[in-house]
Amino acid sequence: MNMNVAALKLAPAAEADHADQILGTDAPSRLAFKDAMLQAVDMVAHGTAAASSLYSGTGVAGLRALLDDLDPLPKVGTGIAAALADIGRPALEHALTVGHPAAMAHLHCPVAVPALAAEVLISATNQSLDSWDQSPFATLVEERVLTLLTELAGLPASASGNFTSGGSQSNMTALYLAAERYGADARKSGVILTSEHSHFSIRKSAAVLGFADDAVISIASDEAGRMSMPALEAGLQRVVGEGRVPIAVVATAGTTDLGAIDPLVEIAEVAAARDLWMHVDAAYGGGLLFSRHRDRLQGLERAHSIALDFHKMLFQPISCGALLIRDRAHFAPLASKADYLNPEDAVFADAPNLVERSVQTTRRADALKVLMTMRAIGRDGLDALICQTLENTRAAAEAVEARDYLRLARRPSLSTVLFRYVSAGGPELSDAITLKTRAALFHAGIAALATTVLDGRVHFKLTLLNPRSTPDVVHRVLDAIGETARELEAHHART
Ligand SMILES: *Cc1c(COP(=O)(O)O)cnc(C)c1O
Repeated sequence: MNMNVAALKLAPAAEADHADQILGTDAPSRLAFKDAMLQAVDMVAHGTAAASSLYSGTGVAGLRALLDDLDPLPKVGTGIAAALADIGRPALEHALTVGHPAAMAHLHCPVAVPALAAEVLISATNQSLDSWDQSPFATLVEERVLTLLTELAGLPASASGNFTSGGSQSNMTALYLAAERYGADARKSGVILTSEHSHFSIRKSAAVLGFADDAVISIASDEAGRMSMPALEAGLQRVVGEGRVPIAVVATAGTTDLGAIDPLVEIAEVAAARDLWMHVDAAYGGGLLFSRHRDRLQGLERAHSIALDFHKMLFQPISCGALLIRDRAHFAPLASKADYLNPEDAVFADAPNLVERSVQTTRRADALKVLMTMRAIGRDGLDALICQTLENTRAAAEAVEARDYLRLARRPSLSTVLFRYVSAGGPELSDAITLKTRAALFHAGIAALATTVLDGRVHFKLTLLNPRSTPDVVHRVLDAIGETARELEAHHART
């Protein structure tokens, strides 16, 4: 007998070995898993009053004090029941309840139940998508979902993609591949053109990727927030006149504030004529692919790359996004830098190793939750949910227009509504009251609203990603805005 095995057998069991706390193939750890999960699920489903309120209202100091009073690493562990009581309960009680109908601040969605069930499988199996032998089925699930997504987007059979942590990573990866396509000088003299309303992750990505400080050129938008084609042409001519090299145009399908969809067909024409990489940031508006309104994304099928987020319009728990690439050959720069896999001595024939398409190495099996959601809810179900949010948004804009103390900024395009509070005290006072009203309604647990700057002035912004944010809810929120703003204004007048 091997000496080490004998020694192992003779070693006395540690006084309290915690082996059952590591999910294994044995019955005790499976029972421990089940017990812990059921307690946690029970807490989410019934355990706290917090589940029905938007927010506890506790400020930063109060939350910090809760944590300061707690020993994060006790010498002897408390066990799961006490840990859930001490940490799980406040984590739920002081969460922003994303499923509350008055949670309307950001592109931050309520989550689909089938996706939550999938999350249990994703985390318990802990598959990693970098290599096939770490995720045999999950790798193929991701490939299957990507095939469906490229079909929905209208990309050709050469297309491929990978799941990402979200739009920011998708955008950065796309710009990396675009730069690699143009070669060594791309980062020195290359220029990326994008609308003034495009997401900040475009600029951040260019900075991280080592482009020049002025590499991202901002193109003016029309009144609706869509990239202006004359401005794009003028921008291109100016850049070329300066001896610089345009390499990519980034269109946005669903800008973060106005939900504006750039003219994708026209942009594709320009990109083709000038041999530019066309990236479409559809992190927000890509959700339309799952609805009857997918024709609003016409031109998407001509993109070289597309960013999609499922944690925006598709009810997925964070994080869940994808990057689609028109021609899988364009992933080559990422594949060539994953050399530890030694493709020349591949062990598993035909097995895809998805690290070759990703900037991440270890990576979650997030495609499983998208697949589970699509299977369980179905095409008609997702269409109905998304259409309900668009319908709610249209009704919310009407509700804004019906109030004389509010002024609608633009007709909604997707699920955001931007509007001004009108103050007799003038625009500066209106800006200040808007910011204060937002904070007051948040701390009172009445509504989570956003504010943004449009046309140089502070606006309220509602983002209605929850099908339950129906007109009655919106009416209550708009009334609360009016009451709170008038109180603040009266207070201001007295002081
Ligand atoms: C949300 C958003 C992003 C960023 O995506 P993350 O998933 O938050 O990284 C990028 N672009 C647009 C248009 C977005 O709305």
